[in-house]
Amino acid sequence: MSNIRKIGILGSTGSIGTQALDIIRKNPERYGVSVLSCARNIELLERQLKEFKPELAVTKEEKDARELSKKFPDTAFAFGEEGLKEAAALSENDLVLNSLVGMQGLVPTCSAIEAGTDIALANKETLVAGGDLVMKSAAEKGVKILPVDSEHSAVFQSLQGNECNPYRRIILTASGGPFRGFSRRQLEKVRLQDALKHPNWSMGNKITIDSATLMNKGLEVIEAHHLFDAPPEKIDVVVHPQSIIHSMVEYEDRAVMAQLGLPDMRVPIAYAFAYPERIPMEEKSLDLAELSQLTFEKPDREVFRTLDLAYGALATGGGACCTLNAANEELVAMFLREKISFTDIQDRLVDWMMDFAPVKADSLEDILELDRETRARIRETVRI
Ligand code: MG
Repeated sequence: MSNIRKIGILGSTGSIGTQALDIIRKNPERYGVSVLSCARNIELLERQLKEFKPELAVTKEEKDARELSKKFPDTAFAFGEEGLKEAAALSENDLVLNSLVGMQGLVPTCSAIEAGTDIALANKETLVAGGDLVMKSAAEKGVKILPVDSEHSAVFQSLQGNECNPYRRIILTASGGPFRGFSRRQLEKVRLQDALKHPNWSMGNKITIDSATLMNKGLEVIEAHHLFDAPPEKIDVVVHPQSIIHSMVEYEDRAVMAQLGLPDMRVPIAYAFAYPERIPMEEKSLDLAELSQLTFEKPDREVFRTLDLAYGALATGGGACCTLNAANEELVAMFLREKISFTDIQDRLVDWMMDFAPVKADSLEDILELDRETRARIRETVRI
């Protein structure tokens, strides 16, 4: 029997997907690829198909799947949402890496859980919108949800070996994004190209904008709540501009465990793949003397209001996190198309959440419905 673990990658041409394939490429004795999937970058997908020869490949459009199936007769092809569901549930998967962007990741996550396959989760929106449902069904099926988000991987690593020790507090670190220290007036002048420049991490557009508004940290607070069963009052956020400490856990004796490293997403990806083992990496070691200082500060919750929106949504419950996520996705998409300004994102979110009357959203159907309804209403109210 082969010891090679087959990984189904949902979102293989994005930032996380390509870095995951880099780990697989360097560790052929450990890993193979069962699924590749992408939306638009067909050229890159084609190169990946040639190199990794998966059982199944999924494209967004049917015509792309058709074209590619002629060139790769040994691979099965599927497309669209149904294709992603099929890919997540494929029996050849030993692990599914969900690196899809946004809400589209939720249904495939549920399919992988249904199939009993462990998930390396890079798609935080999945947990923000449907965290109760996802964690409950994962527990019922005995499926592990392994965090790929660097902060949550750091928390997960800092929790190891402490099963008998309840933690006192989770401390998520935030880089503060490109506009750390900005006043409201400065923030109003921000342009798209400024917001797309993250100081430490190179990532996809959606998460880069979320990092600039601090919404990413808000979503991560909600994500931590679900992953670690942490009440909101046990989750703190501290700004740490160097992004060397990836997050921390404080225990009852006030001992704080932290995970440090140079900002490189391959570390949390590899940890999720190999858990509880670690894979040797060739990259440069952390040199603290060279860095010379690590600094910390409180997040500016007056100028950046998104963090409080996330805590508020957690307190409200009943679909509030789902609607916050959906509204944010829509507004970020509008900003990326330069239809609204940077501060419009948070201002409209504040208005939206102020008017939100809690509704029940327990089932997958309820969550998807609330998501659709929110997007439609946001598009209407913004009137672009
Ligand atoms: Mg993160």
